[in-house]
Amino acid sequence: MKLVLKYGGTSLSSPSDIRNVAKNVASLAKNNEIVVVCSAIDGVTDDLIRISTMIEQRNKNDATKTLDNVIKKHKQFANQTIKSSTIKKQLLEKLNIDVLELQELVRGLTLLKEVSTRSLDYLISFGERLSDDLVSFSLQELKKKSTALNGKEVGIVTDSNFGESRPLMDTTRIRISKTLGSLLSKKIIPVVGGFAGADQHGNVTTFGRGGSDYTATIIASCINADEIWLMSDVEGLMTADPKLVKNAKLLKEVSYAEAIEMAQFGAKQIHPKTFEPLLSKKIPMRVRSTFDVKNNGTLVT
Ligand code: ASP
Ligand code: MG
Repeated sequence: MKLVLKYGGTSLSSPSDIRNVAKNVASLAKNNEIVVVCSAIDGVTDDLIRISTMIEQRNKNDATKTLDNVIKKHKQFANQTIKSSTIKKQLLEKLNIDVLELQELVRGLTLLKEVSTRSLDYLISFGERLSDDLVSFSLQELKKKSTALNGKEVGIVTDSNFGESRPLMDTTRIRISKTLGSLLSKKIIPVVGGFAGADQHGNVTTFGRGGSDYTATIIASCINADEIWLMSDVEGLMTADPKLVKNAKLLKEVSYAEAIEMAQFGAKQIHPKTFEPLLSKKIPMRVRSTFDVKNNGTLVT
């Protein structure tokens, strides 16, 4: 099967979580062609948004402190996730390129004391730019060939509606089928940072909060995937919020229309546009748990 696997931030909230994700991807890659899409590490997008608020409030000290913590967290994760010293060194070098760019951006915004919607998208896209490398290098440690790409690199082209962009599907389809087709033919597992793309002028754009789900379905549509799995910390779609209703039951199968309604009104936040790219090609989606891999979750068709 050609499979798109999307991992949410709570599936990547510790070094052992990341190793667990890599182990599962590596095992699925034995019999399937896999494209991984990942969110930022749990909490990082919130931190980046907080930095932008601090900049606008002219609170340089806290902005710098929060940024330092974000950077420290990723370096710590890199150190604790990867055992091989060669792979760890390569990962830290790769992270450092993004870290330098992020620091430069925050310095510029701090001088200006303002964050436009365009700058905000650029800033908050860094969560996924950093997490995709942690996942990709963890796969390499498991002897899998893998490359990390951000939304712009993979070829997601959007309109310039910053903070809530939409993909330009015709251009995106041509670019993504080229980049991912070439990697898959070489048996390289692409790990794509979700949430962001770039407009036709090359400015970074995002799809809005929770947008990595949307990245995953856009990619699934562009490569004609057989299935897409949204991996998270819940069993699947439930009859009610299990935190509130004790005997809430897992739904084995729902229609796209039902899932769209649940995405709008349910407790599990699925990005509202997630299902759009799947409808015309009728690509089945599974909503399933990262931690309980034997559970088939919910099939959305
Ligand atoms: N990292 C982004 C967010 O927290 C996108 C996502 O996780 O889907 O909203
Ligand atoms: Mg990256």
